[in-house]
Order: sequence, then structure tokens, then C-alpha cells
Amino acid sequence: MVARKRDSLSIYRTRRTTAKSGEPVGVKIAKNGALPGKSRQFVIQKHAARHEHYDFRLEIGGVLVSWAVPKGPSTDPAVRHLAVRTEDHPLAYGAFEGVISEGNYGAGTVMIWDTGSYKNIKTDDAGKLVPLATCLKDGHIEVFLEGKVLSGGYALVKMQSHGDDWLLVKMKDGYAHTPKNPTKTVTKSAYSGKTMTQLQNTKGKVK
Ligand code: MN
Repeated sequence: MVARKRDSLSIYRTRRTTAKSGEPVGVKIAKNGALPGKSRQFVIQKHAARHEHYDFRLEIGGVLVSWAVPKGPSTDPAVRHLAVRTEDHPLAYGAFEGVISEGNYGAGTVMIWDTGSYKNIKTDDAGKLVPLATCLKDGHIEVFLEGKVLSGGYALVKMQSHGDDWLLVKMKDGYAHTPKNPTKTVTKSAYSGKTMTQLQNTKGKVK
């Protein structure tokens, strides 16, 4: 058996639970500034259905694994917002915007509120990346977003014994509080630049 190679941050990590302590995430960044792991798509869609919410979707295993977040994402690490796991969506849904007409499931206006790429940053005690499928099963996901609105570490943590209820939390890093109160200040589509009102006249479709 070959001893697992530890990177230079492994001691740092084993001594801390950064999600609790608020210290920087123990991810080694390469000299070129790249994070480990492959880049995948994420999208956050503002959805004015019967109850307005934000759909937070991460590409995992060839689908968009999805959570409905009634209050939307916060950039404040002290704020925990409920995120209810919903059904997986196809990857193409990440480019969907406009009106889902009355009588259909989820009827209402959908706006691509943020879109971009993300990387898995969840590591085990030895500093090895935990596969996303395992993170999902274990109910603890940590991702680094590179979106048009949001950047930096975000954690999704499943509440034990609460079925599909998870919490979405900004991790403490240099991107915390940026931008401030994004659900209030970001009112235009990250894709088309249209507002929710402008999108009310657009039939929903994949762009
Ligand atoms: Mn929705």
C-alpha cells in the first residue's frame, strides 16, 4: 500500500473545520491560480412561481442537481438560507429563461440570475478532493463559484432528519459580502440583461 501523498496544506486542514471557524478554505491553489478539479456549469434562476424562489443548480454527473432557495443566496457567511432539494434537471435547463405558461408545472417567469462555472473544493482530512457524488450522498457540498454575480466558496449542508432540506451558506473567504445583498441589487438577467418584467413577455425557451 502506497502512503497517500499529502499536500502542504494537509496539516492546516486536519486541525480545522473551516466551515465553522470561518478561516480560509484549505485548498491549495496552483502557481497559475487554478483550483484543483474540473470546471463545471452552475446556474441560479430566479423563479416567480406561486412562491418566488431561486433555483440553485450544480452540474453533477451529467445533470443539474437542484435546490429551491426561497430567500435566494446570501453573500454573508453568518446567514443560512433554506435550500430544498428538488428534482434533477437536464444540463440544457441552465440556458432556460422566460415564461412557463399557466397550467404548467412551475408556471411563472424564470430569469437566469447568475451563471458560470464552479469547482468542487470539498476535501477529506488527508486533503484529497471528495468526489461530488459522495458529497451529495453525504449531504455536505463545498464549491467555488466563478459566476457573473457570485464568486468564492459556498457550502450546501443537508439538515439531518429533515428530508430534502439543506442549508446554503457562503463560506468565509475574500469573496464574502461581495456583492452586498445581491438578491436586492441584482435585478437583471446574467444572460440577456432583461428584468423580470421584461421577461414576462417572453415565452420561455432554451437560449
Ligand atoms: Mn423553480
